[in-house]
Amino acid sequence: MLKDDLNEILRQNFPYKNFVHSQEKIITAIYKNKNVLGLMPTGAGKSLCYQFPAKISENLILVISPLIALMQDQTEKAKQLGIKATFVNSSLSSEERVRRYSQLAEKKYQLLFVTPERFRKAEFIQALKKNKVELLVVDEAHCISQWGHDFRPDYSQIASFSRMIGSPKVLALTATATLETQKDILEKLEIKNDHELIWAGMERENLSLHCEEAYENEDKVKLLLEYLKPNEGSQIVYFLLIETLQFFSKILQKHNIQHKVYHGDLKGDQRKQNLKFFQKNENVLMLATPAFGLGIDKPNIRQVFHVQLPGSIESYFQEIGRAGRDGKPANTYLFFSENDLPISMEFIKWAYPEKAFLRAFFELLKNNLLAFQQQGFDFLREKLSFKNKRDFRVEASYQILSRWGCVESLSDINDLPADKIIIREPNEEDFVLENQQELFKYQNKKLLEMYQLAQNQTKCRMGQIYKYFGGEEIICGRCDNCIERKG
Ligand SMILES: [Zn+2]
Repeated sequence: MLKDDLNEILRQNFPYKNFVHSQEKIITAIYKNKNVLGLMPTGAGKSLCYQFPAKISENLILVISPLIALMQDQTEKAKQLGIKATFVNSSLSSEERVRRYSQLAEKKYQLLFVTPERFRKAEFIQALKKNKVELLVVDEAHCISQWGHDFRPDYSQIASFSRMIGSPKVLALTATATLETQKDILEKLEIKNDHELIWAGMERENLSLHCEEAYENEDKVKLLLEYLKPNEGSQIVYFLLIETLQFFSKILQKHNIQHKVYHGDLKGDQRKQNLKFFQKNENVLMLATPAFGLGIDKPNIRQVFHVQLPGSIESYFQEIGRAGRDGKPANTYLFFSENDLPISMEFIKWAYPEKAFLRAFFELLKNNLLAFQQQGFDFLREKLSFKNKRDFRVEASYQILSRWGCVESLSDINDLPADKIIIREPNEEDFVLENQQELFKYQNKKLLEMYQLAQNQTKCRMGQIYKYFGGEEIICGRCDNCIERKG
C-alpha cells in the first residue's frame, strides 16, 4: 500500500485531514507487515493506530490492555467513528459476556478490547478462534516487563496467546520505556529479530527545561515565587511529600497567591472538585503529588515545577510532558538538593516490600478480611504497628498482590463479600517473575540517574533524556544548559 493511499483512506474514513505525530509511520509499518514497538506519550494520538486498521480491515483487530477502567470509553470512541467495537472484561455480567462471545463467534466485531486474563477462558478462545486476527495490539506494553513499573504476570503469556491465534503481526504500544524495558518487551513478545521501533512524538520541541540546586525549602519557595506566572496559563507544582506541599501552600496563602491542592490526604470529594476546577478554568495554579495528572489532557499548561527530585527520568519526563500539549512554548523547573535523595530512597524501600513482608501481609489480610473491608488500610497498618505514618508498604503490598492476581483489585473490594477478596496464595513463581529485591536496586539506580541529570550543568537536558530512552542525543537549544552555552 502506498503512502498517498493511507492519507486518502484517512480522509475518506475518519474526521481528520492529516495524521499527527508518528501515526503515519506506525500505520505504514503495519501495512508493510512489520511488528512494531511504538513509544507514544499520552496525547500523541495512539488510538488511531488501531482504529485505522480496524475500520478498513475485514478481519479482527485485537487490543490487549490491563486498564479495565478505560475500555468502555475506548470502545465508545471507536463506535463514534463507525467501527464495530466491543470489550470483554470482568466488569461485565455473565449474561452480557456470553452475548458478546456469541457475537464474536459470529464475526460481528472489527475491534475488540480485552484484558490478558481473558485468555484463561476456553469459551473466549473458542469464540476468538472463529475470527482471523489481523493485528494484535499490546497496549501498555511495559506491563510485560518487571522493569516497566506496572508489571502484570498475565502479560508474560502474550506470546503464547499469540501462537494460539495464528501469530498475527504485533503492535506494542507504551508511553515510556527505558532501554531495558524496550529490550524486555521485544524479547517477551518474541519479535526481537523482526520489528520496527518507532518513537512517536517523544520529541517535545516546545519545552524548555531548567534545573536548579536549592538546599532548604525556604530557598525553593523563593525560586518558585520568582518563576510563577499567575496570569499566563495553568501551572502545576509537584511535591513528593504532602507536608512539603502544605508548607508551600501556607506561604502562597500569605502572599495572596490563589491556588488549589491535590494529594492523598484530601477527602475524595474535595480531590474531585479541585481536579474539576483545574480542568475547567484558565490560569489555575495546582500544588500536587505525582498522582495528579494521570489522564489529564489539558492543552495549555504553561509551567510545571518540581520542588523535590522525581524518582526517575521516566516520571520526570512524564510529568513535565504535561506542559505545553498545545505545542506552544512551556517552561519546566526542577528545584532539587541532595537532601531529596533519602526521602526518595525511603519511598523506594516501601514501594518494593521484601518477600517475607509480602507473605506476612497476605496472611494478615487473609485472617482479617472483614475488618479490612470495614476499616481499610488503617486497620492493617495498625496491626503491623507502623511508626511512620507515611509508610505505605501496606498499600504497595496490596497493589502487588492484586497485579499478581492473588487478591481482588482495589476498585471492586467495596462491593464484594469479604471472602471474595482473596483469590489465591502467592507462589514461588510470582516472586521469581517480579523480584522485589532486584526492583529495589533498579529503582535506586534510576533515582541516581535522575539526580545526575539534574546535577549536570553542561549537557543538554533534553538530549540526556532522549539518550536515556534510546534516542538521539540532541541539543535542544532551549534548556538552561544550552542557553548557558550560547551565552
Ligand atoms: Zn538543551
